[in-house]
Amino acid sequence: MSTSPPTALPCPASDAHKGTFGRVLLIGGSRGMAGSITLSSIAALHSGSGLVSTAVPDSILGTVAGFHPSLMTIALPCSDGKFALEAWRAIESQIEKQDAVGVGPGMTTGPGSIEIVRGLLQQRSVPVVFDADAINVIAKQDWFNNSFATRSPQEPDIVLTPHRGELARLTGVPADAPEKQDEAAHGLAISAGITIVIKGGPTRVVGAHVDMNYTNDTGNSGMATAGSGDVLTGIIASLLGQGLSGWDAARLGVWIHGIAGDQTARRKSRAGMTSLHLVETLAEVADQMF
Ligand code: AMP
Ligand code: MG
Repeated sequence: MSTSPPTALPCPASDAHKGTFGRVLLIGGSRGMAGSITLSSIAALHSGSGLVSTAVPDSILGTVAGFHPSLMTIALPCSDGKFALEAWRAIESQIEKQDAVGVGPGMTTGPGSIEIVRGLLQQRSVPVVFDADAINVIAKQDWFNNSFATRSPQEPDIVLTPHRGELARLTGVPADAPEKQDEAAHGLAISAGITIVIKGGPTRVVGAHVDMNYTNDTGNSGMATAGSGDVLTGIIASLLGQGLSGWDAARLGVWIHGIAGDQTARRKSRAGMTSLHLVETLAEVADQMF
């Protein structure tokens, strides 16, 4: 490996059982977008999580469950192939049994998704990584800032993982002004007490203090492929579930994601690599961390 990890993973004890490494729940998907939340879920399995559940609209459950025999699947109420309004009520009681939650990939920004995002911002039991449409929902809602006004530093961590287009919607600063976007993202991270991953080449991570500013040095342009960000969501959710802080899970997550991307590019070529190759390589890379 050419670079050093920004922080270490805890070493697994020899008497570990599958609950030791965290119960992780991934929420997302919709008709026509079943693959994205599945990639996140497999990434969590391949990053060391022992028990991974995927909550999806009922109509795509069979597709998601068929991708991987180790995934547990939870069917949520569905309307027109998307989460129905009652979906949050159906999942709410499951949240406190989890060690971490990842939400957003492929879920659309419909009414059911809005309720899920609102519920996850208001709950105080588990750390959450918000990605993709979960960020687009947050960007559309004026209750976003209010959700953070009452947060205390003792409460479970929150990580957002926008690419520059999503960050533009979140901050109002256009993607073609990256330095201004970085500044706005860091301002938001400080005022809200959260961690924000600014995805791209390179990826930056900004945290809740002025000196929390990290630039990742792994990865390559072959990672600009459909589903690549969904893999990152699963890695970060897994690391949160293994007990890392939002700041550490985000930095280590982007670093591991980039290492997996570099190995995948060597095997497949940058042009030919897909997110399925990436998530397979991840299984080998995560082991190299110990
Ligand atoms: P998404 O757009 O959500 O699928 O995320 C794309 C992922 O690929 C992010 O993790 C980016 O950091 C990564 N990525 C995209 N382009 C590059 C690049 N040129 N170099 C390194 N990583 C990249
Ligand atoms: Mg994405």
